[in-house]
Amino acid sequence: MMKEILKRPANLVREPLRYCPGCSHGTISRLVAEVIGELGIGEKCVGIVGVGCSGRSWRYIRCDWVMVPGHGRTLACATAVKRCHPDNIVWTYQGDGDLASIGMAESIHAINRGDKVTVIFVNNTYFGATGGQLAPTTLIGESTSTCLEGRDSETMGNPIDVCKLLATLDSEGYIERAALDTPAHIMQAKKAIRKAFEVQMNGEGYGFVELLSACPSNLHLKPAEAMKWVGDVLAKKYPLGVYKTPGKEVQA
Ligand code: SF4
Repeated sequence: MMKEILKRPANLVREPLRYCPGCSHGTISRLVAEVIGELGIGEKCVGIVGVGCSGRSWRYIRCDWVMVPGHGRTLACATAVKRCHPDNIVWTYQGDGDLASIGMAESIHAINRGDKVTVIFVNNTYFGATGGQLAPTTLIGESTSTCLEGRDSETMGNPIDVCKLLATLDSEGYIERAALDTPAHIMQAKKAIRKAFEVQMNGEGYGFVELLSACPSNLHLKPAEAMKWVGDVLAKKYPLGVYKTPGKEVQA
């Protein structure tokens, strides 16, 4: 009899993924579903999503969901759900455009209030679903559909290091940046996601995980090349590691 080594996590819905080949969103869906299952919190979890590629995650992760209209209102909605239902585990799944561009005000204020929610932030440096436009995280010199010649700091500003920015706020929480380019980094990303849920469950504050991800379609790279770019280029600009732990000063 063959030994079963890998199986579908109970909280991962049996549904074909509607992401481009090589996109990191599929990996993230699996990791979050695994963590929710291992922590046994599926019945208490409420996920909040906006629109864009990240907004499709409700199809794949088994828990209750709220979809907010448009980009940017996700963390404001998470605050409301958590305050009305404090016994629920409330979490968001957000891309660069949602969390760091249109929703930057909502994100900063929710984290500044120390709302006890969990945030999964997908940094792939683009507005993916709408055609690969410049995002706040786009690197200097990186070409997008709205800056074909590459991002120029003089006219478009510098890339925003979201973990570093949020870690300066005085509220209590956990902040870690991980990447999805290698098996070792993916395992670390899972640990970070788990920790971000545990901090909320323990009432210690918010949990925030940034995941450096590949968007091969907008990078115009093959999936393997896009993964390599995440490790070789993106992680150089946005260093991996823990940026904040409840009760401690900024660490990175
Ligand atoms: S556009 Fe980018 S982020 Fe969106 S599904 Fe395709 S590869 Fe993934």
